[in-house]
Amino acid sequence: MSDPVSSSVSSSVVSSAYQQALEVIASVEPRIADATRQELADQRASLKLIASENYASPAVLLTMGTWFSDKYAEGTVGHRFYAGCQNVDTVESLAAEHARELFGAPYAYAQPHSGIDANLVAYWSILAHRVEGPWLEKYGKKNVNELTDEEWETLRHELGNQRLLGMSLDSGGHLTHGFRPNISGKMFHQQQYGTDPVTGLLDYDVVRAKAKEFKPLVLVAGYSAYPRRINFAKMREIADEVGATLFVDMAHFAGLVAGKVFTGDEDPVPFAHITATTTHKSLRGPRGGLVLAQEEYASSVDRGCPMVLGGPLSHVMAAKAVALAEARQPAFQTYAQQIADNAKSLAEGFMSRGAKLVTDGTDNHIVLLDVTSFGLTGRQAESALLDAGVVTNRNSVPADPNGAWYTSGIRLGTPALTTRGFGKDEFDRVAELIVHVLQNTQPGTTKAGTPSQASYVLGDGVADKVKDASAEMLDKHPLYPGLELS
Ligand code: PLP
Repeated sequence: MSDPVSSSVSSSVVSSAYQQALEVIASVEPRIADATRQELADQRASLKLIASENYASPAVLLTMGTWFSDKYAEGTVGHRFYAGCQNVDTVESLAAEHARELFGAPYAYAQPHSGIDANLVAYWSILAHRVEGPWLEKYGKKNVNELTDEEWETLRHELGNQRLLGMSLDSGGHLTHGFRPNISGKMFHQQQYGTDPVTGLLDYDVVRAKAKEFKPLVLVAGYSAYPRRINFAKMREIADEVGATLFVDMAHFAGLVAGKVFTGDEDPVPFAHITATTTHKSLRGPRGGLVLAQEEYASSVDRGCPMVLGGPLSHVMAAKAVALAEARQPAFQTYAQQIADNAKSLAEGFMSRGAKLVTDGTDNHIVLLDVTSFGLTGRQAESALLDAGVVTNRNSVPADPNGAWYTSGIRLGTPALTTRGFGKDEFDRVAELIVHVLQNTQPGTTKAGTPSQASYVLGDGVADKVKDASAEMLDKHPLYPGLELS
């Protein structure tokens, strides 16, 4: 398993920490202790290829299980609405300090509970920032929180522009990038940019033209399922041309930024006015969010609580500090490069076996496999792969003929298995196994005998054969090596 997940602490110390914790849990609700044991066994025995998942280190996981969970700490460091927050202040300051140092950001806010929360904090702070200065002076107010509802309503009409331009969901964007059923699609007038219908790649001229026509307040860059890098210098140029704020959601690829795989124009932090991320995907920390900002947005981001957030999860902020400290180690850069190298190998493994990929490859951690070439929907492929112990998720492809529920794609990511120590050859083998499963899966029919988008028939013996082949690789790269639970 790649450092720093296997830290310098001996595996017997980690084993006894978990063993004893599980005994304590079992004394109250044994079924939860059993489910926790079973989850480890299941994760150990499967090929985890979900692009948004990873394996956090024992240090990160253990940090979450403490009495920091019991503390309320609404407010900001040194300015809390509760007494006795001196240790939470230490925790939050350290998480923010590690984040600033790691990403070279002027300001970091470690409170968001998740990626969606982080994005909402970012959106709110963009709106709040916009009314600062002359707009607030007009009303004789120091900050937006002092505005009455009536004043805020009048101001909203005077300001007019609450437009947001983000990448469409089927091109790889996220729900929070202006998707209509999400709050981001309701708090903003939204439009979307897509990718080129032939190459599947982002076309900056098209984004520029859309931005010029729509004149958004917020230009969003970032993705959940786009298998390519983004030139953030170009996105900032476009934002500046139309007077927009550039917001980058690096939830998926923060680990590649932290690990210096994405540098120069591919590093969003210097170019974006505000950058948000999750901490649990390629960054390999606890489940949570983080906002980075240029100095001019710091005071409005700081008001994330109480505008969007309640009390911070102090135990998770502590775990973020530990994970960010890990990501500042040189070993993390080796890990991040391996994520990208492995994704290339996985993509080449598919293409050399005739499978079709969106954008014909990857240069980040994501591979988006179009399974229509196997005559399947994403739903059928996802289920057949799961039967064979390969955990993936179905995903739309651009202009998906099967819609967002059944889909035509399978999204695969390399961060988790790279943490286990898988290398390029093993990812080629993973591609071979996946192709084998899909070639031996037939679409099924409904009870009425009509074609089904969900049911499927997996060939006899395929699942067992693939599970055996996977087990060989998984045994070579144990998850949490030496961690034994009785
Ligand atoms: N932003 C992007 C780009 C994501 O892919 C995701 C989650 O998948 C999120 C935000 C939301 O993160 P969370 O699930 O932590 O709210």
